[in-house]
Amino acid sequence: MRYISYGKQCIDYQDIREVVKVLKSDWLTQGPMVQRFEEALAKYCGARYVVAVSSGTAALHLACLAAGLKKGDEAITSPITFLATSNAILYTGAKPVFADIDYGTANINPEEIKKKITKKTKAILPVHFAGLPCDMPEIAKQAKKHHLTVIEDACHALGAEYKADGKWFKIGSCKHSDMTIFSFHPVKHITTGEGGVITTNDRRIYERLKALRTHGVYKDKNTAKNGAWYYEMRELGFNYRLTDIQCALGLSQLKKLDKFITRRREIVGIYKKSFRDNKFFDLPGEGKNVKSSWHLYAVRLKDEYKERRKEIFNRLRKKGLWVQVHYLPIYQQSYYKQSGYKKEICPNAEDFYQKEISIPLHCSISIKDMDYIINTLFTIFKRIT
Ligand SMILES: *Cc1c(COP(=O)(O)O)cnc(C)c1O
Repeated sequence: MRYISYGKQCIDYQDIREVVKVLKSDWLTQGPMVQRFEEALAKYCGARYVVAVSSGTAALHLACLAAGLKKGDEAITSPITFLATSNAILYTGAKPVFADIDYGTANINPEEIKKKITKKTKAILPVHFAGLPCDMPEIAKQAKKHHLTVIEDACHALGAEYKADGKWFKIGSCKHSDMTIFSFHPVKHITTGEGGVITTNDRRIYERLKALRTHGVYKDKNTAKNGAWYYEMRELGFNYRLTDIQCALGLSQLKKLDKFITRRREIVGIYKKSFRDNKFFDLPGEGKNVKSSWHLYAVRLKDEYKERRKEIFNRLRKKGLWVQVHYLPIYQQSYYKQSGYKKEICPNAEDFYQKEISIPLHCSISIKDMDYIINTLFTIFKRIT
């Protein structure tokens, strides 16, 4: 039987060759590939600095620390995101506060952010859901007004763009934020197995992130006076390093990123045409002034079918379509419920969760797969009506 996942990596012989080259070299980690990968990403995104780390979660954790989050602080984020966004806030001792999504885009609604800002708020973490950029100029405006740090969770949005003041900006350029984080988990646009980065234009944040990645250790002009061996631990950091093996894979993958996104757009184009005016579910939109990089294809069941989502989901999986649901609103996770988060704090997010199904979207889907996916969806929906 066929098995077509909602997301998957795309690895070729060039990627394998690049990884093998590192395996035969002197450096498996902390060698030259890390910096080369960081520089290539900085150039791609249009950011001044990039720090490679061991996962997107590590990137979020360090970004929250660099933002100065600590116990007693609050940080506002979207409930429709992966656990890591909100958990990273908890790691610092601060409290995640959830602002509802805009129903049309499934992204955090700036008007809802406004309502959640208190004296304790220190940061906003917008999440570009499915690869569609949030309203960054508006979020930046509010952040400036209240002196908040903005950390973009762009794990879905490598290669996405938005327009502001007549100019197009790549996500990761940090034109309207302090830091942006990406993940290179295999379901994301490019992969390093596990891996992530933080991009920033702020030199001080950059230096801090680099130290936190390696145990909070600094080595600079001041420490050199004590000898070339000498290094100084000034704060409690971690081992969140990414290996040269992984960076070689990332660098090779990055060369193909634009091709990957083009392929994703082609698939989206076929879905749009095939499912236009269908009676069963609504399609994701793109909107003006944004170019999604299409991480997920998140359809929403029409009201009359939402009660049967589980049945539809199971039937699709039985046919080999490895669909997924993104996401249970974070505050409904049992850990969060135990910590006192009440149900129904974000009605749009809850409605979205009840209707959402992510259907396959990745670079390894063939034309034949497309036929199979589209026919299977129609067959199953017709059968349940
Ligand atoms: C994947 C993902 C993360 C976490 O990335 P890891 O590399 O798996 O740690 C964080 N936020 C979002 C929105 C993600 O999709």
